[in-house]
Amino acid sequence: MEMNDKKKRWSMLLYVLIALSILMLLRSFVYPNVMGSLVEETSYSEFLKAVDEGEVTEVDLTTDTQEITYATGEGESRKVYKTTQFPNDATLVERLENANVKFSAHLPDETASLLVYLLINLLPLAIFLGGGYLLNRQLRKQMGEDNNMSFGGGFGFGGGLGRSGAKEVKGEETGKSFRDVAGQDEAKESLQEIVGFLKNPERYAAIGAKLPHGALLVGPPGTGKTLLAKAVAGEANVPFFSISGSEFVEMFVGRGAAKVRDLFRQANEKAPCIVFIDEIDAVGKRRDSGLTSNDEREQTLNQLLAEMDGFDNHKGIVVFAATNRPESLDPALTRPGRFDRRIPVELPDLAGREAILKLHANDVRMEPGIDFGVIARQTPGASGADLANMINEAALRAVRMGRARVTQNDILESVDVVIAGEKKKSTVLSEHEKEVVSYHETGHAIVAAVQDGKAPVSKITIVPRTSGALGFTMQAEEDEHYLTTREEYKQKIAVLCGGRAAEELIFGQMTSGAANDIERATRIARAMVTQLGMSDRFGMMALGQARNQYLGGDATLTCSEGTAQEVDAEVQRLVEEGHQTALETLRKNRFKLHEIAHYLQKKETITGEEFMRILTRDDGFAPKMPQE
Ligand code: ADP
Ligand code: MG
Ligand code: ZN
Repeated sequence: MEMNDKKKRWSMLLYVLIALSILMLLRSFVYPNVMGSLVEETSYSEFLKAVDEGEVTEVDLTTDTQEITYATGEGESRKVYKTTQFPNDATLVERLENANVKFSAHLPDETASLLVYLLINLLPLAIFLGGGYLLNRQLRKQMGEDNNMSFGGGFGFGGGLGRSGAKEVKGEETGKSFRDVAGQDEAKESLQEIVGFLKNPERYAAIGAKLPHGALLVGPPGTGKTLLAKAVAGEANVPFFSISGSEFVEMFVGRGAAKVRDLFRQANEKAPCIVFIDEIDAVGKRRDSGLTSNDEREQTLNQLLAEMDGFDNHKGIVVFAATNRPESLDPALTRPGRFDRRIPVELPDLAGREAILKLHANDVRMEPGIDFGVIARQTPGASGADLANMINEAALRAVRMGRARVTQNDILESVDVVIAGEKKKSTVLSEHEKEVVSYHETGHAIVAAVQDGKAPVSKITIVPRTSGALGFTMQAEEDEHYLTTREEYKQKIAVLCGGRAAEELIFGQMTSGAANDIERATRIARAMVTQLGMSDRFGMMALGQARNQYLGGDATLTCSEGTAQEVDAEVQRLVEEGHQTALETLRKNRFKLHEIAHYLQKKETITGEEFMRILTRDDGFAPKMPQE
């Protein structure tokens, strides 16, 4: 709390400084104008002239300061002026008598002027301070006591600095239950026990069973980790305190730790309850991670560890944390007694995707009879958030088209939008570029189709997208499968090389359009060599360590420099092999390549069926298809 007081004093000082500088500005710009409009300052000679001409009616001299205040005119036209007496002017009294002016003198009125001085100077200050205080209180009231975020930093007079900023939502108010989470059955099953515990902590205490203090939800972004944590609170009907890891790490040193302390204090009062720390990797990174050590973060982490050890979980506090970088977490966080449960929340499989699509489709008006299975099959690798987004994009499209219901076609279009970005109308390709892109995409498609047909082409398009892609070929997996063979990886590389191969074959040139293909092909080849043990050269030797597996990160090499060179050579060999396969396949099917590419150039988007119809039409050029 020492920290707090110090900061409070600082912000008070800051406030006073601001008030003072505003006051100075007022004094130098505003006051003189106000005063000036009341009493005009004149020169002494002007004053004498006015006396001689008989305009002056009244004169008053302040003896010490030699200040003369005089008035001209009577009643309505009366005006007051001010001037300073010229030194040793002995003739003034005579002149005044001659002009028949009423005149007087007085000593400066010390108390009165002091009062005026104080009033002028301190009143605004008081208004500033009082106003600031009221404003502060008002805002705090509006934001809710528990939720004073950065505001407390600037104008914090009262308490509340260093509060956690954790938003408490009443259990009922998270409004989520397991019904709002589609798929993720394993995760829900492991969480069911925690729900039971939160509903009935005494039952567990009576037996002497200890429940986990914390559970770590681990998985790629958008898979429903936050949603699951909220659903648990909803199911158990307990308050839900949530805070994001990045909120902990703030400007002021010492705040993070104070926030943790405060968060757990609040939780302790409201137990049973759930404390949810989103993106825990922001605070929970390994403490030894090299040069970029961060004292603030470490303090926060230490406080978190201490709190997790300290709280009495008979009361029923469960701490959830979510992350998509579990490998970067400090091991102290994951040892028993802290986040000892790890709940994987993976990307949804085929059935999961279909369920998520259906769930979100409930919220929008759909044409009857939509086949969600088709859409699920086209979206391998999409997260729950992606799928929710697709449904929403489809609804937006329906509105744009002036329809009252969403059609299957809307959803199919929105799949493209989510995967490749909105259609970009401003990019107009020249006919030549269109031709090149058509051959490129058809090249991918033919290589994909002629090799084994496990992932048939479902769509080819050459409409430019806002993501920068000039076209794309979509392949949909027939069934979900979890193992990939070496052959399949090689085929994937060949398919990725198909675009460039077609350009080379037909135009004898290379374009920048293949950059992304090359990157992906190389990544697959590298994984085959370093992680999957699929190269002849190294066999089953691991040469790298996976990093950020949920964020699609590459592996870091763990081998010697000499070996690294050989790895590169091996990777290059694998990619080149795919390149040659693609060239050969396209050479053999050159006539089909020409025909389909021209058809695509004309139509801009063709379906998988159209593509297959042309490719397999028996005109003496049809390739021998596998599995048929
Ligand atoms: P994460 O925390 O894992 O990054 P969120 O929980 O924030 O992901 O999910 C984002 C959104 O995606 C949710 O609000 C929800 O609309 C949707 N979503 C994700 N997974 C699912 C799911 N399994 N069922 C239903 N909706 C989901
Ligand atoms: Mg989240
Ligand atoms: Zn390509």
